[in-house]
Amino acid sequence: MASAARLDLDGNAIKPMTICMIGAGGFIGSHLCEKLMAETMHKVLAVDVYNDKIRHLLEPATHPWSDRIQFHRINIKHDSRLEGLIKMADLTVNLAAICTPADYNTRPLDTIYSNFIDALPVVKYCSENNKRLIHFSTCEVYGKTIRSFLPKDSPLRQDPAYYLLKEDASPCIFGSIEKQRWSYACAKQLIERLIYAEGAENGLEFTIVRPFNWIGPRMDFIPGIDGPSGGVPRVLACFSNNLLRHEPLKLVDGGQSQRTFVYIKDAIEAVLLMIDNPGRANGHIFNVGNPNNEATVRQLAEMMTEVYAKVSGEPSLEVPTVDVSSKEFYGEGYDDSDKRIPDMTIINKQLGWNPKTSLWDLLESTLTYQHRTYAEAIKQAIAKPVAS
Ligand code: NAD
Ligand code: UDP
Repeated sequence: MASAARLDLDGNAIKPMTICMIGAGGFIGSHLCEKLMAETMHKVLAVDVYNDKIRHLLEPATHPWSDRIQFHRINIKHDSRLEGLIKMADLTVNLAAICTPADYNTRPLDTIYSNFIDALPVVKYCSENNKRLIHFSTCEVYGKTIRSFLPKDSPLRQDPAYYLLKEDASPCIFGSIEKQRWSYACAKQLIERLIYAEGAENGLEFTIVRPFNWIGPRMDFIPGIDGPSGGVPRVLACFSNNLLRHEPLKLVDGGQSQRTFVYIKDAIEAVLLMIDNPGRANGHIFNVGNPNNEATVRQLAEMMTEVYAKVSGEPSLEVPTVDVSSKEFYGEGYDDSDKRIPDMTIINKQLGWNPKTSLWDLLESTLTYQHRTYAEAIKQAIAKPVAS
């Protein structure tokens, strides 16, 4: 339970605050709400169009935190109540976005509107009302690494100077305009620049978060179970879906891209430090990832296959993966980030944060959750006779 005497990193008592959390019903929002209810006395005005992932916190109304969380079903695209909620709060955390790669090249307009245009009023209301803002951007603003343009046999490819992603030094390298994959990264970059400029010119107190592949329970959806059957979620849910259905995992363009994966519960610790330590977080852009958990997508698929066999007790397929082209999987205009290793200097210095959970351990707890939550529903869906 929350103790009233929580201290910040400088030893001062943390005063309970009211947080307007936009996108609170999503993957990250649901974990942040859980953390705030269980371990702090902060209040949350939870804004989203959905609340399925936080229903366990809202109902029954007898939870010890029930008077500290309110759900507001609001689409921020067109709802005049948003400004009032931001005014009522001490801090706004904006998580709302279209953020699944399958949408970036197939729904580029929705992607750009969601990640730039819809975020504009949030920034404006915070700036005009002198409210603090924590805005969720993405590691994808770095785009491709400099390393990816070096000759394949160049020894410089091993030099971190050519791939380590630093908030205050690395360039943002995107593909050409017809590679619409970059619509998301570009919209996120522009809103970052706008927030930064609001800070510089109008004194907005802001923090920008760049998540590096946060994964864990409640991420996205399982197609045909709690999301559209033709939908394409992010890689964790795609691979979980394949494992649950005993299908081979699909490796896009050979699965050679590299990612670093961080456990959602580690990452949420970093966000809570930002919330509780404004003097250390304001004016900063933070990479939040786990540089020790790097894997190619192929290695991720292999590890998930092994972990799933362990937690489900079901044998793996003899041929557990299959190659698929990006054009076939995502359609025209897809492109990819080659490698994403976060530099941790700034977050270490400002907040003393370090991730703890290994890739194996985070996959074990996540796939245990996926199996417990979905295996039975998938069995029933597969057994259901097709309507004639
Ligand atoms: P998510 O899709 O699970 O959550 C986003 C939530 O925002 C959803 O519940 C959605 O309903 C809500 N939302 C979207 N548009 C809205 C609108 N117009 N009005 C009200 N609510 C709206 O995604 P997530 O993984 O929780 O990501 C949260 C943020 O973090 C996003 O901004 C995303 O770009 C960023 N991010 C996440 C990751 C990651 O690893 N999960 C990586 C990079 C960036
Ligand atoms: N990917 C894959 N198979 C899938 C889903 C994704 O090979 O079924 C790849 C995708 O091409 C990318 C990586 O996995 O290289 C991570 O994809 P994700 O959707 O998680 O988002 P990203 O990290 O690119 O933002």
